Amino acid sequence: MSHPQRHADWHQMAADMRFETRAYINDQFVDAASGETFETLNPATGKCLAQVASCDGPDAELAVGHARAAFQAGEWSRLAPVRRKKTLLALAELMEANRHELALLDTLDMGKPITSSLGDMQGAIGCVRYHAESIDKLFGEVAPTGDDSLALVLREPLGVVASIVPWNFPLMMTAWKIAPALAAGNSVILKPSEKSPLSALRLAELAREAGLPSGVFQVLPGFGHTVGKALALSMGVDCLSFTGSTQVGKQLMQYAGQSNLKKVYLECGGKSPNLVFADCKDLDRVARHAAEAIFHNQGEVCIAGSRLLVENSIRAAFVEKVLAAAETMQPGDPLDPESFMGAMVDETQHRRVLDFIRQGVEEGASLRAGGEALKGDGWFIPPTVFDGVTPQMVIGREEIFGPVLAIFGFDSEEEAIAMANDSDYGLAAGFWSQDIDRIMRVTRRLHSGQVFVNNWAGGDQTVPFGGVKQSGNGRDKSHHSLEEYSELKTVWMSLAT
Ligand code: NAD
Repeated sequence: MSHPQRHADWHQMAADMRFETRAYINDQFVDAASGETFETLNPATGKCLAQVASCDGPDAELAVGHARAAFQAGEWSRLAPVRRKKTLLALAELMEANRHELALLDTLDMGKPITSSLGDMQGAIGCVRYHAESIDKLFGEVAPTGDDSLALVLREPLGVVASIVPWNFPLMMTAWKIAPALAAGNSVILKPSEKSPLSALRLAELAREAGLPSGVFQVLPGFGHTVGKALALSMGVDCLSFTGSTQVGKQLMQYAGQSNLKKVYLECGGKSPNLVFADCKDLDRVARHAAEAIFHNQGEVCIAGSRLLVENSIRAAFVEKVLAAAETMQPGDPLDPESFMGAMVDETQHRRVLDFIRQGVEEGASLRAGGEALKGDGWFIPPTVFDGVTPQMVIGREEIFGPVLAIFGFDSEEEAIAMANDSDYGLAAGFWSQDIDRIMRVTRRLHSGQVFVNNWAGGDQTVPFGGVKQSGNGRDKSHHSLEEYSELKTVWMSLAT
């Protein structure tokens, strides 16, 4: 088929699809050692898509052994950066050529709209290209010593990196982890989420085609408490790079402490504040962005603008505009290119979001839109808006990870900043204002890994992405992430006279 464009084309492509479901270990697609499998479901229908290999400790041990052997052999780790670049660029080309299939796999597996998945593919491909292109432009240092010495600071790969990723942007989060780690010369073992393993396994096929040597890139599908934990506790893993919940991030730090003090880079959750000051321009446009900031990807976004703080003098009118924008963002069939929202990833997440909504009502927030699951197949929840939320309410503090917006009012800049910073999280924050003095003041005072001024979620590969506080300690994207996957080695040479 030529590239799918219409709703029916995507359904046809989905019907014709075949899935790789086995683990990828040392260049081979294999069943889990136990022979166990797990079901991966299509959230839009609730039906099983495929039975996937359920890896566990023995598979992790095997993969770590191959990863270490590959690292020691040096076919990748000691390859000239310019040649690693060539292979990774070939991978990016293959991803580009297969982007429709990769996008469809993510949509089928986790329920996001196909248009959104296609956008994610551009992000994933761009990330692989960026790191491929960077690696032969990263220099070591010569230290400013006296004449009797020469001191070098070299960058060397870490060894074996285990990347554990979530389901909300399956392939894009994968690319953010594996691209810099591979570019830096490491052997990488990827553990995709048990809720969205399919695109990772297709990526393994493409990596093999691109010519990544055996054992350098491996994929172990399975559960967190089995294969994920085994990787995290492994004495043969040098670094864990993780994207997922704060709760699991904390466990991974413990596992590192219980094992070999491996480096642990965490990208965790958020409850990001989006501040609207009365002096901002074009309230209709800002309201639309505020709605998109929470309803994009069904609200299953780590940097979702889930707390909307609005200056009280414009709040009533502004809330009406947000409600009008939300009305246009209803969920629909994820395979329809016109759908703005898709389905919640699974029944558990669906129930969890509905529980938060119930709690919001019980706590006395004013439910202004949505609130009830859609009837019929699949796990759909419409845009849900609460006004009159206070910082003490659970829906105002906890990450819901669904299409639920909590609106707060404020009277002064000082109050707005205090409310914005009053969170365990610090992943993203944004605000809207036309006052240049305020823009500079508020930017400085928001305690957050990234601050969006007069936009939400702006950024590209050149800037780092990550959080402060309980949102994590790592940085994805940009040359800063590349640096995380290498070790500094100091060489001090005495110069005989
Ligand atoms: P999760 O923490 O439940 O799972 C993430 C990954 O960790 C999965 O692959 C899972 O199998 C694995 N895992 C679970 N328990 C484990 C254990 N004991 N040992 C090892 N691995 C384990 O998160 P999720 O539900 O997949 O994703 C949603 C979360 O991810 C949200 O909190 C969201 O904010 C966060 N997230 C953060 C970013 C970011 O860049 N900061 C991006 C996307 C998602």
